[in-house]
Amino acid sequence: MSFEEIKQKDQTYIAGTYSRFPALLDKGEGATLYGEDGKKYVDFGSGIAVNSFGACDEAWKQAVIGQLNKLQHASNLYYTRPQAELAAMLCSRTGARKVFFSNSGAEANECAIKAARKYSFDRYGEGRYHIVTLKNSFHGRTMATLSATGQEAMHRYFMPFLEGFSYAEPTAAGVIACCTQKTCAVLMELVQGEGGVRPLDKAEVQAIETFCKQRDILLMIDEVQTGNGRTGTLYAYEQFGIRPDVVTTAKGLAGGLPLGATLFFEKTEHTLGAGDHGSTFGGNPVACAGACSILSRIDKDLLLEVQGKSAYLFTHLSRLPHVLSVTGLGLMIGLETEKPARAVAEACLEKGLIVLTAKNKVRLLPPLCIRKDEMDFALKILNEVLA
Ligand SMILES: *Cc1c(COP(=O)(O)O)cnc(C)c1O
Repeated sequence: MSFEEIKQKDQTYIAGTYSRFPALLDKGEGATLYGEDGKKYVDFGSGIAVNSFGACDEAWKQAVIGQLNKLQHASNLYYTRPQAELAAMLCSRTGARKVFFSNSGAEANECAIKAARKYSFDRYGEGRYHIVTLKNSFHGRTMATLSATGQEAMHRYFMPFLEGFSYAEPTAAGVIACCTQKTCAVLMELVQGEGGVRPLDKAEVQAIETFCKQRDILLMIDEVQTGNGRTGTLYAYEQFGIRPDVVTTAKGLAGGLPLGATLFFEKTEHTLGAGDHGSTFGGNPVACAGACSILSRIDKDLLLEVQGKSAYLFTHLSRLPHVLSVTGLGLMIGLETEKPARAVAEACLEKGLIVLTAKNKVRLLPPLCIRKDEMDFALKILNEVLA
């Protein structure tokens, strides 16, 4: 079957929710991907921050295949070793007390939203269920997480939304203005990913934390995109000097397999009990084995490397022609260009460089293992496209 025939089949049988780029990806190694036609790409997207160590990382593959050869799934009615080991690793690396495993970012946030409401119900009874999120945020595509998402454009067609969400300006004053007696939690990204790679201000985030602690409003950080080494620390909140009550993560956690996690710290440790929440596939042992391999290698040395690569990219990206701004943190970078972002991404793809977009930005999310020669290739292609 030719690419044209695959495309035809895709368009005939798959719901038209994605505007796909014209590439039929077949295989890869590290940050190099190959189309079925043999065309070579350098990958600055990582499947949207998912393939943390690129394509087919050897150690990750061994961990995954090892578990596949033993047992592909066991229901959560039973114990499995990879799930327990991953949970212990996540807790010891973050100070979290408990983890709930799901399969995606949206589900990790769903769990956080339910836990916030239960926490408040346990302490204050009915009615204190409002959650403040930020304007321009993105928290997922399910009804609850879409309700939490502060973007008008995503709120068309699907009314009525879940009640009890309000959207604040991304400042302490903005959040405080949205909080009422009914507010049980603030949920926010520290670098808004889909919203255009926009980092929040550290002092504002700390002021939000102080306010939340005073009112017993849970501080819930959505690290679905920023987590797992992406921003140069294991989780981005470490760089903001805050202690969240709940952290959600997914994308890069299992290095390419579907896995979500909701991390509960002291306050929320006992909020969810038997029967309060669940998932058939959540914490699948193959995904957890992959995640153990990824997480165990996101150590001090690797994070220093990520920080160094980030500095290198920020320096050289800001020198490219017709670049209006460079924003982000670590290897999560947004490039505001004079040319429209989608046109830049298409031209890069044509020249063998995969980049993403987010709103009006060109978005770069290379695998954490990206090499210097690959960064230089990306800079060269971007230079050609933007000139
Ligand atoms: C991608 C993303 C989600 C949704 O994750 P899915 O796995 O697509 O459900 C939620 N929050 C943030 C910040 C994200 O970047």
